[in-house]
Amino acid sequence: MDLKKFILDIKDFPQPGVIFKDITPLLNDVEAFKFVVDEFTKFVKETGANVIVAPEARGFLFAPAVAYAAGCRFVLVRKPGKLPRTVNEVEYSLEYGTGTLQMHQGDLHENDKVVVLDDVLATGGTMDGIIALCHKEKNISIAGIACLIDLAFLHNDDLKNKYNLKTLITY
Ligand code: IMP
Repeated sequence: MDLKKFILDIKDFPQPGVIFKDITPLLNDVEAFKFVVDEFTKFVKETGANVIVAPEARGFLFAPAVAYAAGCRFVLVRKPGKLPRTVNEVEYSLEYGTGTLQMHQGDLHENDKVVVLDDVLATGGTMDGIIALCHKEKNISIAGIACLIDLAFLHNDDLKNKYNLKTLITY
């Protein structure tokens, strides 16, 4: 399926100079959303993962559907101050500066095989941060990483070389 027709380029959002990929038309199309969930589900099953880890906000749009279809647990990654129990946290690189990501302690279990799922891979800073956060728990393996959109011109091949990477749309 040609998924690019469901992605809009929004100029100067959220700030001047940025071209924002708006994925909401894809969510607004029954066949396109189903195709994406099915593709991610196939990938997760191939990796043998038993847990999907995904960050707010747009990772949450796909991860629960994929977790349901693949028979996996779903673990949330959130910005500071959102999770009510004791958390692990990491600092990660943003385009300008750093941010913090948190996960409830104990949500990942020893020997879990994780697929990290998000909407957009841009510089890779968020993905690197989430992987580091997963490894705060003992004996976790990263079975794969998956993103709807790969902004390939914004990152090098480090993540692709190190992990089993699945993306559905490349720019
Ligand atoms: P990175 O850390 O630079 O790879 O940025 C990836 C994160 O930023 C993801 O969690 C995305 O949700 C978000 N992001 C970056 N660029 C875009 C965009 O153009 N559209 C939607 N989300 C974006």
